[in-house]
Amino acid sequence: MARLTSFADASASFEEAEFVLLGVPFDRTTSFRPGARFGPDSIRHHSWNFESYDLETGVDLAEAKIHDLGNTDEFGSAEEMVRAVRDELRPVYRAGKFPILLGGDHACAPPSVEAYPDDAPSLGVLYLDAHLDFRSSYLGDARSHACSARRIVEKVGARNVVVLGVRSVSKDEIDDNRAIGMPFVTAHEIARDGIQASVQRALNMLKTERLYISLDIDAIDPAYAGATGTPEPFGLTPRDVKHVLDLAAPRLAGLDIMEVAPPYDQGNTSALAARLAREAMVRVIASRRAR
Ligand code: MN
Ligand code: MN
Repeated sequence: MARLTSFADASASFEEAEFVLLGVPFDRTTSFRPGARFGPDSIRHHSWNFESYDLETGVDLAEAKIHDLGNTDEFGSAEEMVRAVRDELRPVYRAGKFPILLGGDHACAPPSVEAYPDDAPSLGVLYLDAHLDFRSSYLGDARSHACSARRIVEKVGARNVVVLGVRSVSKDEIDDNRAIGMPFVTAHEIARDGIQASVQRALNMLKTERLYISLDIDAIDPAYAGATGTPEPFGLTPRDVKHVLDLAAPRLAGLDIMEVAPPYDQGNTSALAARLAREAMVRVIASRRAR
């Protein structure tokens, strides 16, 4: 598979790896401005900016077992992308490894959850997004990034998904969700109640054994993560997302980081995405060590 450079510290073979990265350079369902197809390689490039040693956990990623699969090949339709992501990630979950998917627009996330084996411990999803992504179809495409939370609900059930950071919805999405019942915590509630209490509330709702985090980078405020397709003010801070990772790490089974569109800034959004992938890995390692 084609790639410019691998993610930092990803020197392990697939067989020995604990964490497996996969890039999906696909942004054909972007509804405002494109560019997320350049996300995976930009995030990889910026991952080399950071020290391998983590000050907070004492974990050194130079000693972690990380493998980078590179990017999926070019494809046409969203359906083809979905098949490719599922096919790549099924063996990753099957082997008990932790996948980290780098997008790409948010349409790339549902196949990552769909690849999770049905006979594995139950899976809940923390879905961080400025948007509810709850349309049944958008512009005739059920695999649009505007439908991703809806598709994930169809896989794991409405009570096993919580959206965090939402601040932009359509009236139809709210009406649909009233019937279907996927819980969400708005960015305004998080600002009012504090991130710790809000994440704890979300985690209490998710009764599953394992958790998956789908991070649409637009959950974070455009002041920090402006290089994205549909920037939305009044968002979370990068530190808020660290709190999510802190609290979810002991149950975490996989992660995706979506919607980084590098052309719209000088690299800080890609650097943030790379750092958050690394923050997730050190926390998962630290929580396993504590067991
Ligand atoms: Mn999204
Ligand atoms: Mn979004």
